[in-house]
Amino acid sequence: MPTANAYAAPSATGDLVPVTIERRDVGPHDVLIEIKFAGICHSDIHTVRGDWGPQQYPLVPGHEIAGIVTKVGAEVTKHAIGDRVGVGCMVNSCRECANCVQGEEQYCLNGMIGTYGAIDRDGTVTQGGYSSHVVVTEDFVVTIPEGLELDVAAPLLCAGITTYSPLRHWGAGPGKKVAVVGLGGLGHMAVKLAHAMGAEVTVLSQSLKKQEDGLRLGADQYFATSDENTFKDLAGSFDLIINTVSASIDISAYLQLLALDGALVNVGAPAEPLPVNVFSLILGRRSFAGSAIGGIRETQEMLDFCAEHGLGSEIEVIPASKINDAYERVLASDVRYRFVIDTSTLG
Ligand code: NAP
Ligand code: ZN
Ligand code: ZN
Repeated sequence: MPTANAYAAPSATGDLVPVTIERRDVGPHDVLIEIKFAGICHSDIHTVRGDWGPQQYPLVPGHEIAGIVTKVGAEVTKHAIGDRVGVGCMVNSCRECANCVQGEEQYCLNGMIGTYGAIDRDGTVTQGGYSSHVVVTEDFVVTIPEGLELDVAAPLLCAGITTYSPLRHWGAGPGKKVAVVGLGGLGHMAVKLAHAMGAEVTVLSQSLKKQEDGLRLGADQYFATSDENTFKDLAGSFDLIINTVSASIDISAYLQLLALDGALVNVGAPAEPLPVNVFSLILGRRSFAGSAIGGIRETQEMLDFCAEHGLGSEIEVIPASKINDAYERVLASDVRYRFVIDTSTLG
C-alpha cells in the first residue's frame, strides 16, 4: 500500500501533528495523486473540533486538493500520469440514486462519501488532503485547466464550488442584486464569481476593515453589519443573499434585506440551529434555503469558468508547521482569504 506524509488531529482538542498514513492500493478505476497544495476550509475546523458530531481520530482533514496524477489503474480513462487534477469534498457516492444520476452526487440519497472522516465503500475510514498522496476513484477527480495555478486552484474545490453552485441555481447574473455575508474563504470566492457572472455585488461584513479588498475583488458596495443603519438602508434590496458565516447570526434581520421573491441561501454551517421569524419570510414571499458544495460535473464547469475568467482564490501559502496557527486565525476571522498548505512541507 502507498504511504503518505500527513498532518492529523489526534483528538477534538489537540493540535494537529505529523503522521504517516497508508493509502489503499491503486485499483483498476483509481488514480494516485501527488498532492501539491491543500486549502484549509472552516469545515475542517468544525469537523476536527467535533462541532458537527463525534469523529474518529486521528483525523487528517483537507478537501481542497490540487496535485498531479502519478499512477493510474488499468481501466482508468479520464486521467493520465502527469495530469493536473483536483479533489473536493467527496470521493465517492452510490452513483445509482436519483440524485447521483442527475449529477448531484453531493445529495446522494445513500450518503456521499466525504473526503475525510467517512466510511468508504470498502469499509476504511477516509483521510483528507493535508497529505502528500491520495488515491481516489477517477470519477471523483476533476481536471484543473491550463492557466489556473495549482495553489490558487486548490480552494476552488470547496470554497469555489460551494458558492458557484447556488449563484448559478438562483440565477445570479446581469440585473440581479447579490449580497454576500462574510468575507472569508467562501465569501471572497462568492464575490469574485458573482461579479464575473455579471451580478451587482454587495459585501455584508462585520466591519469595514476589509472594504478595500472587497471592492478590489469585484464588489460594487460594502457595508458593515455592526452598523445598525445597514439593516435600515438596505431593507428590501437583494434578489439573492449568500450567507457564508460560520457562526449563528440573526437570520431574520438578513431576510428583511431581500426584495420580493428573494432568497437567502445558507452555505455557512454553524453547529447551532438558526431561529427564523416566519414573518420575515411571509411578508415578501421570501425563501430561506441551503446548498451543499456541487456535483462533479458542476465542479468541472466551475473550474473551467474560473480559468476562462482568470479567477483563482486569494491565498496565503503556509508550511505544515503553521496549520495550527492558521486554524486560530480562521477562527478569529483573520484570513485573507484562504490558507493553503504547501504539502512538500508535511514530512
Ligand atoms: P471563513 O473563512 O472563516 O469565513 C467565514 C466568515 O464569516 C469570516 O471571515 C467572517 O467574515 C464571518 N464571520 C465569522 N464569525 C462571525 C460571526 N460570529 N458573526 C458574523 N460574521 C462572522 O470560513 P469559510 O471556510 O468561508 O466557511 C464558512 C462556513 O461555510 C463554515 O461554517 C463552513 O463549514 C461552511 N461551509 C459550507 C459548505 C457547504 O457545502 N454548504 C462548504 C464549505 C464550507 P467578516 O469578517 O467579513 O464578517
Ligand atoms: Zn470546505
Ligand atoms: Zn447516490
